[in-house]
Amino acid sequence: MSEIPYKIYLSENEIPTAWYNVRADMKNKPAPLLNPGTGEPLKAEDLYPIFCEELSKQEMNNDDQWIDIPGEIVDFYKMYRPSPLVRAYCLEKELDTPAHIYYKFEGNNTSGSHKLNSAIAQAYYAKKQGLKGVTTETGAGQWGTALSMATAYFGLDCQVYMVKVSYEQKPFRREVMRTYGATVTPSPSMSTNVGRKINEEFPGTNGSLGCAISEAVEAATSQEGYRYVLGSVLSQVLLHQSVIGLETKAALDKYGIKADTIIGCAGGGSNLGGLISPFVGQMLRGEADYDIIAVEPASCPSLTRGSYVYDFCDTGRVCPLAKMYTLGSNFMPAPNHAGGLRYHGMSSIVSQLYDDKLIRATSVKQTDVFAAAEKFARVEGILPAPESSHAIKVAIDEALKCKETGEAKNIVFGLTGTGYFDLVAYQKYNDGVMDDYIPTDEEIAKSLAQCPKI
Ligand SMILES: *Cc1c(COP(=O)(O)O)cnc(C)c1O
Repeated sequence: MSEIPYKIYLSENEIPTAWYNVRADMKNKPAPLLNPGTGEPLKAEDLYPIFCEELSKQEMNNDDQWIDIPGEIVDFYKMYRPSPLVRAYCLEKELDTPAHIYYKFEGNNTSGSHKLNSAIAQAYYAKKQGLKGVTTETGAGQWGTALSMATAYFGLDCQVYMVKVSYEQKPFRREVMRTYGATVTPSPSMSTNVGRKINEEFPGTNGSLGCAISEAVEAATSQEGYRYVLGSVLSQVLLHQSVIGLETKAALDKYGIKADTIIGCAGGGSNLGGLISPFVGQMLRGEADYDIIAVEPASCPSLTRGSYVYDFCDTGRVCPLAKMYTLGSNFMPAPNHAGGLRYHGMSSIVSQLYDDKLIRATSVKQTDVFAAAEKFARVEGILPAPESSHAIKVAIDEALKCKETGEAKNIVFGLTGTGYFDLVAYQKYNDGVMDDYIPTDEEIAKSLAQCPKI
C-alpha cells in the first residue's frame, strides 16, 4: 500500500452521479410524516402546496436505493467538489496518538459549509417546476448563504427568515446573502401572522429555528409561485448530503483504509446522515461494522436527553408532524454559539438509526468544543465552524483513548465548515467569558409535555 497523502483527492469524474438513499436498506423505516390536523400519514401530493413536487417525492421515497443526480447539479458540484479527505497527520502528532485521523472538509466554498450540496439540488427542482422563488429560514446563516448562492445560479428569488440572535450577531452573513440577491428578515418578524403571535407570546425573544421555519412556511404558502425549502432535518436533505459519505468512502477505498469510528456533529442530522449513509448501508446489509457517533451540544441535546415521539417541526405548528428525538417544539435553547446545532428535533432517519442502536450519541459542552477548535486550528491550519468543532472534540477524545489502549484505529470525522463568521464566539472564548448553559430536566420535561399526544 502506498503512503497515504495529506489530502486524498478524487478526480472530477469521481463525483457521485447518484445519491444513495439509506432508507431503502433500513429494515425499520423512519416513521411517516403525519397531517397535523387529522393525524393521518401524508402522501407526496399532500406536500405539494409547501414543497416542490420532485422534492416531495424524494421526501417520501423509502424504496429506491439510488436516485440519479441531474447533470446540471453534477456540473455545479464540479465547481467545489470533490471535497478533500484530509489525513490529520499534524493533529495526530500533537496528540501523540497511534490513531489515524481523517476529516472530510466541506468548508471549501463561499457558503463555508456542506449546506450547498442540498441547496443547489433544491433550487434546481424549484427552477424545473417553473417557480418564481423560494422561502426559507436560517439559523447561523450557513443555510441561507448556501441557498442564496444556489438561487442566484438558477435566477430564482430567495426570501430568508434569519433567527434574530444570528441576524444581530452576524451582520456580515446577511450581507453575503444580500450580495447573492436574497432578502433577509430577522425572525420572529412582524410581517407574518405567526411571527406577530410569537412576538406577543415571548416578548423580546431571540428567536429559534422552529419559529423562523413557521414564518418561512407562511411566506411560501401565501405567495403565488413560491415554495418552502429547508436545509436540514428532512429526508430529502440527507439524501442530497449522501455525496459527502460516498466521496469519503471512495477516497478511503482508494487506499484500502477501513474506517473504525465515524463521527459527525448533529443539529438536524443532515451532514451526519449524509456522511454515514453509505457506511450504515453496509451495516444494514451485514457487510461491515462501524462505531458511529453523533455529537450534539449539551445545550440542545435532542438525541441524548430528548424523547422519541411525534412532534411539531416548527414553533408555529404549521408543518407536518414528524417522529423524531425531540426536546419539544417550544424548546428555546440558550443562545449558544453553534447556531447550526440549535434545532429542537433530529432527522427521522438519524432518529430511527439511533433508536435501532446502529449509531450512538454523545453531548459536549461549549467551552470544551472551543478548546478543541483552538487546538485544531493551531495544528491543522483550518479555522473550524463551532458546529464542526463538536465532531473535532469527540475525534480528539477517541484518539486519546487509542493512546491509552495502543490501538491504531482509523477515525473519520466530518469537518462541515469554516468559522469566519463566528468570530464573536471565538472572541468570547478568547476573553474567557463563554458559558456552558445546560438545560435542566425540568425545562426539558416542561417543553416535552407540549408534544402532541399520538
Ligand atoms: C448547519 C450546519 C451544521 C448542522 O446541521 P446538520 O443538518 O446537523 O448537518 C453543522 N455544521 C455546519 C458548518 C453547519 O452549517
